[in-house]
Amino acid sequence: VSLRPSQPCEPYSINTKEVLGGGRFGTVHTCIEKTSGLKLAAKIITARNAKERVSDMALNEIQVMNQLSHPNIIQLYDAFVSKNQVFLILEFVEGGELFERIVDESAPLTELDAMIFVKQICQGIQYMHQMYVLHLDLKPENILCVNRSGYQVKIIDFGLARRYKPRDKLRVSFGTPEFLAPEIVNFDFVSFPTDMWTLGVVTYMLLSGLSPFMGDDDSQTLNNVVAVNWYFDEEAFEHVSPEAKDFISNLLIRERSGRLSATQCLKHPWLNSAKDKAKHSNILLKSQLQLRKYMAKRLWKKNYIAIAAANRFKKISSSGSLTSLGI
Ligand code: ATP
Repeated sequence: VSLRPSQPCEPYSINTKEVLGGGRFGTVHTCIEKTSGLKLAAKIITARNAKERVSDMALNEIQVMNQLSHPNIIQLYDAFVSKNQVFLILEFVEGGELFERIVDESAPLTELDAMIFVKQICQGIQYMHQMYVLHLDLKPENILCVNRSGYQVKIIDFGLARRYKPRDKLRVSFGTPEFLAPEIVNFDFVSFPTDMWTLGVVTYMLLSGLSPFMGDDDSQTLNNVVAVNWYFDEEAFEHVSPEAKDFISNLLIRERSGRLSATQCLKHPWLNSAKDKAKHSNILLKSQLQLRKYMAKRLWKKNYIAIAAANRFKKISSSGSLTSLGI
């Protein structure tokens, strides 16, 4: 897929009324390929200010996604640019975010379910790493379910992904504090183990519903990450197997070289014990309850930020300083 200029009559009809999600760079809508009737997702990336060249912003995402084709990774279908917007046409999945699905589910979450999800995330990461791609933003929001009833998950959002070049010492400074590896917070080199740390955080959350480094505010969270200050909450992990705990303990390690790689994870006893169903059918009721609280808090935070931004905008517009800000 290359970034081509938009044609007068695009082959897709984008349903701007149906919003699948939104993030830092734009919104995602459903869309239909006119000739085939195929349902797809359109991620529309808009420049946030006049200085930003939107095609530069999206080019990295396109280049990275072009290299990837795997059942646990969302597929890029097409890409085009129109004025100050880039349209990424993606494979559509209808199951929503993995964590949302878990909290909405009436059936209880078991350790076996968590294991099935983690195994697929690991398979996606293993493939990505074999292709020399670092995702660098593997937070739960970026793990989607293919549908509402099945178990297949896909990794999305390669907006912050990078091609790993062993000779270039890559440093980055972005992401969500609770999921950042210590090397990102310390502005040190990032590499494959950086994604493995985040897998450790996501696995911890799936099994307990708790965010292992979460503090009262972002700076406390970042301090916890840098100090590698985490433990297994006794109550939340009461019914979790020792193999699962061992899996997490081998990922949430300060030393990058000490963390399991994706290939090693897939060989770990925890991810290979699915046959022993009875052993892992323990119900993670506490995790589901805690995840519900976590998701409610996240929604509250998102809404709070949106309202605060709207209020700031109102204040600025009533003080008449809009033009000076170039709005
Ligand atoms: P962020 O600020 O989190 O990095 P972003 O602007 O890069 O967000 P994405 O994370 O790619 O955008 O997508 C935002 C949301 O849109 C996702 O959390 C998801 O709910 C939805 N979404 C994205 N891609 C798809 C898809 N292919 N099929 C269905 N829903 C999708």
